[in-house]
Amino acid sequence: MRFEDQRKVLVEELASAGITDKAVLEAFLAVPREDYVLPEYRDYAYRNQPLPIKDKQTISQPLMIAIMMQLLSLKPDDIVLEIGTGSGYQSALLANIVKEVCSIERIESLSLGAQKVLRQAGFRNIYFRIGDGHSGWQKAFPPHKTFSKIIVSAGAESIPPRLIEQLAEGGIMLIPIGAGSNQILHAIRKHNGDAVVTKCGACSFVPFINDSKDGR
Ligand code: SAH
Repeated sequence: MRFEDQRKVLVEELASAGITDKAVLEAFLAVPREDYVLPEYRDYAYRNQPLPIKDKQTISQPLMIAIMMQLLSLKPDDIVLEIGTGSGYQSALLANIVKEVCSIERIESLSLGAQKVLRQAGFRNIYFRIGDGHSGWQKAFPPHKTFSKIIVSAGAESIPPRLIEQLAEGGIMLIPIGAGSNQILHAIRKHNGDAVVTKCGACSFVPFINDSKDGR
């Protein structure tokens, strides 16, 4: 089956798994996942599963990305902070819907690889920072102080305080929390300055590496 047809089948799968947000489904129809996987995995690009990318990281499972994007209620004027650029696949999906995506990745070669694919795909609304996502969007262009949506694609031990600070009033942050590969997806909503936390279910991501802790 052609990639285009496989993509349609994947989108049908997402819809029957409970994804009803039209913008999310349209974004999945628009982004060729085969461009973001390693050449040897292109034939598996439309399996609904995570796949290995370089540096022992993974491109996230489509359904997990779709669930998170739906929970974020993405709007065209959103400014999104994404932690864990990885392959750039999710950055592309987000950038199809929202105004701007600011994406942080700690592994330079991964970020540069994603930047190249996303540039070739024609995106002009994605900005990149190479560094530790625990400090959020620091010393980077555009100089945003807060974001209406924050999405973390790696499993953290706890909610990084700097990310809560960078969540705008009325905004939503999604972050997998838990030691090891079994995590619980947490949604944090900023309401009158307070962070209100709800748990959304189990998930499994690669670890959110704490570079400052490792360096001690
Ligand atoms: N959404 C990406 C997921 C990549 S996996 C995709 O679909 O391709 C998660 C990514 O988070 C990895 O690339 C990993 O290097 C990155 N990561 C882990 N800890 C990080 C940290 N502290 N700061 C920034 N990126 C981090």
